[in-house]
Amino acid sequence: MIAKASLRAALVFLCVLFVLLLLPQPAPAYDGPVGTAQMLVNKEYLLSSDFVGGDLVNLRDYMRVNGTVEMCRPAAEALQRMSADMQAAGVTGLSGSSGFRSYSTQVYLYQRKINQYKAQNYGQADAERLAAQVVAPPGASEHQSGLAIDVTAGGTGLTESFANTPEGKWLAEHCWEYGFILRYPQNRTADTGYIYEPWHFRYVGLPHAEYIHKNELILEEYVQKLQQEGVIGMISGQSGQAYAVYHCRDAAEIDALPGQRISVSYATTARDSYIVTTLAEASTLYDIVGHWAEENIRHLVMLDIVTGYTDNTFRPGRNISRAELVTLTARTYRLLFRPEEETPGYLPYTDVKPSDYYYANLWLCYRRGLLPRSMQVLQGEAAFLPNQQVLRWEAAEALSPLFSGFPELGSSITFGDMLNASPELRHAVQLLADYGILTGDLQGNFNPDANISRAEISAMLDRILWSLYEEAPTEEEAGEKNLQAEKENR
Ligand SMILES: [Zn+2]
Repeated sequence: MIAKASLRAALVFLCVLFVLLLLPQPAPAYDGPVGTAQMLVNKEYLLSSDFVGGDLVNLRDYMRVNGTVEMCRPAAEALQRMSADMQAAGVTGLSGSSGFRSYSTQVYLYQRKINQYKAQNYGQADAERLAAQVVAPPGASEHQSGLAIDVTAGGTGLTESFANTPEGKWLAEHCWEYGFILRYPQNRTADTGYIYEPWHFRYVGLPHAEYIHKNELILEEYVQKLQQEGVIGMISGQSGQAYAVYHCRDAAEIDALPGQRISVSYATTARDSYIVTTLAEASTLYDIVGHWAEENIRHLVMLDIVTGYTDNTFRPGRNISRAELVTLTARTYRLLFRPEEETPGYLPYTDVKPSDYYYANLWLCYRRGLLPRSMQVLQGEAAFLPNQQVLRWEAAEALSPLFSGFPELGSSITFGDMLNASPELRHAVQLLADYGILTGDLQGNFNPDANISRAEISAMLDRILWSLYEEAPTEEEAGEKNLQAEKENR
């Protein structure tokens, strides 16, 4: 019996082993250090009672303090540089007043406040409610993270008047340069849950503090933006470095991120997602990673047809403007047909100057008939409206002339909302649809009056280049193709 049982066990073991070997092996999850520098702590994201901000140091060794003030070492070191630079600038009255605050201290402060209200004859529930408006409930205080500090100067105490001291003004202007943010700004009480606290600073590190400061965000908004967008590209004005800051919902994603990793921090106290800071290649377009049109956009970047913005983003969801459309169309035309360069001449637009960046491109589109009817000028002068957003029908009319010489293939693609369109537009849309350049929505509509995004136009141009590059027909070939198509249609 024993032999039989152990044989069965061995067989089961082998079967399990076999199945395990067949299963795809998941990539090992990131197991490096995870910090807390960008971690969101507030009345929604509480710290647990046993959380202690890591690597606490006595701030006495770093700056002037009142009593015993502790902070995490990286924050203390940044504070030391900040207070030294401040003194060098002639602003000398700053003292650190309150740093790390333990969970038990928070319980004590909160309970004391409740008892004060109860002494004024409030019931337990009312006393708790009132106390929570003044003192953070235990676990909700950022001070427990060891990354927050309250400062004073000139005997103002922790009051709004600190904002008007030289120290308060200097910090409001410069704290971001050292990785700090003013955590509870004026007029943001509804969003932060705290009154204006010009004395309370939170260390988040660089480049985060710079981005938060320049975009006038609160930490809640910064973390939310990262959660929504997945990645934010930024170029630090201070270091000139390009950074990509990613939000990862899973530790397994972290190792796969491109760029040189600088730090990993929990995004919130829930510790179920991460903020990963990387030093990026200057040529990276952070916000196309994983986008449906990423490959199309990369092709066009390779061909110098599209470029990103100076902050290394592409903003694929942004609607394209008329000036951008003629620029991309002209670049595509030059690549395909290599026309002789001409010195741009007069254009009949009232709001366009030869010094405009797109002038030569508009000139080319104008001369080669690569403009939708809305941008053509039949007589006199008219406005071009370079910043106006392009509609889908306009993009179709601008790009379809690239297929001139190609016949409609008479494919079965029809768009329900194009049946009553003008013959010109129907031809333009049909030609592009026949060659797979554009598609409709799930309902089979073309949506001619909708805007068109930078991603959508990029996808169209990439497909156009793919079908036409080195394949653009001569006129005779186009005639052949016409005949061929006619035969096939019969
Ligand atoms: Zn504080």
